[in-house]
Amino acid sequence: MKLNSTPFFAVIFLLTAYSFQAQTHFTPDGGGQFVFNENKIPCLTDEQRTAVLNELKTSIQELKTQNRLSYNQANRGSHPLFIWPIKKKDGLEYNDVWGISNYVDQNPSYPNQVLDYNCGSRTYDTTGGYNHAGMDIFNWPFSWKMMDYDEVEIIAAAPGQILYKASSNFDRSCSLSGGNWNAVYVQHADGSVALYGHMKQNSLTTKNVGEMVAAGEFLGIVGSSGNSTGPHLHFEAYSEVELNGVGQDVLIDPYSGTCNSMNVDTWWQNQKPYNNPNINAVLTHSSPPVFPTCPTQETTNESTNFDASATVYFGLYMRDQASGTSINLKIIKPDNSVLYNWDFNFTDNYYASWWYWYFSGIYDMNGEWKWQATYQGQTVTHSFNITGALGIGEEEFNNTSIYPNPFNNVVSISSPLKIEKAIVVDMLGKQIKVISNNSEGIKEINLETLSNGIYFLNLESDSGQRKTIKIIKE
Ligand SMILES: [Zn+2]
Repeated sequence: MKLNSTPFFAVIFLLTAYSFQAQTHFTPDGGGQFVFNENKIPCLTDEQRTAVLNELKTSIQELKTQNRLSYNQANRGSHPLFIWPIKKKDGLEYNDVWGISNYVDQNPSYPNQVLDYNCGSRTYDTTGGYNHAGMDIFNWPFSWKMMDYDEVEIIAAAPGQILYKASSNFDRSCSLSGGNWNAVYVQHADGSVALYGHMKQNSLTTKNVGEMVAAGEFLGIVGSSGNSTGPHLHFEAYSEVELNGVGQDVLIDPYSGTCNSMNVDTWWQNQKPYNNPNINAVLTHSSPPVFPTCPTQETTNESTNFDASATVYFGLYMRDQASGTSINLKIIKPDNSVLYNWDFNFTDNYYASWWYWYFSGIYDMNGEWKWQATYQGQTVTHSFNITGALGIGEEEFNNTSIYPNPFNNVVSISSPLKIEKAIVVDMLGKQIKVISNNSEGIKEINLETLSNGIYFLNLESDSGQRKTIKIIKE
């Protein structure tokens, strides 16, 4: 800005506009990166992988003997095209529920010699010679809460026959020696097999080995059984698995990319981008969320009902936040006017991140407020309710009273103003009753159907003045 050539009044205007914006928190009050599987433990040890492949072969042999094996080598077709194996529970308010921590490690050397299909290093290996053989899709945000409430489902990426199923293993070991995982293995029409591992204990499909599943069919809940430090799906695929067949046990990386030396084609119907920035959730909280160590469930402190005097924490939960990009954030009042509007710049690449800002003393209007984030063309809005705001016109309402209070069935309103509207709200901020009368105004309200307790009575005059009075039913 060229100050010298800017007229004086314009400078004042700009400074005023700027200070209005700057009076609130531009920088977050807390949050940061969320690191999944920090200790890089192998999802499946070599012994376990050998056992898995043996289980597959045993199962194939048994089904063949019973003449129930669906896969037929003579008329196998081309490889399947996967749909995304994760689905959020119906009705869950979060915008999305997953992030990716690891792809397949294409570099057979170890340790610390990693290469993913995209020639990046979003994978891992260990000193013990483990090269990550699948992809890890973790729950985000609040992985354990989501697991405990069955909020993230694993669905079949392609149709096929269940070859193996384990469902009773412990799912909160948080260690390398976590024992066996709960899993479902599905064989597709071309003989390839997908492993769905780390499922929640006893959450699996009721279908048994030998039964068929459709693409998109429920297989289980994302969990943390086996060698796992947090709820995630380990998704691993093999080309034709056949007892004595050709090319058996060949690991597949479902993504096509320059550095995929395992297979050329993508195995996805719609291959997602390597980095997939997304707003996973915008939420309001009564205090900041708490992320304890494995395996304790997070304390989310989520809330959507607040008194006007409360401090509201505005949470933002991102997947793949990209350095150099910015997100627009807004707090919107019930009359749709924008109270705060600011941009937050991301300065790091994080697979998962969370941020929060808090505000108090700004809630001057009762009703439904909005917390809104817009990132790369996507807008996610979360609503929350404010009650107990004093509102404008409080002075003129000074001579308005409610009697009796506490009351039994009927309250009377004494006011020099004409009261046109009355709203009864309970302690949770839920509207119980709305009364309006614009001819003579409201003089009495019959509340005999209410149960005993504390309520808020929001009154509105014909000139739009408002007052909230606490009433007690006895
Ligand atoms: Zn894994």
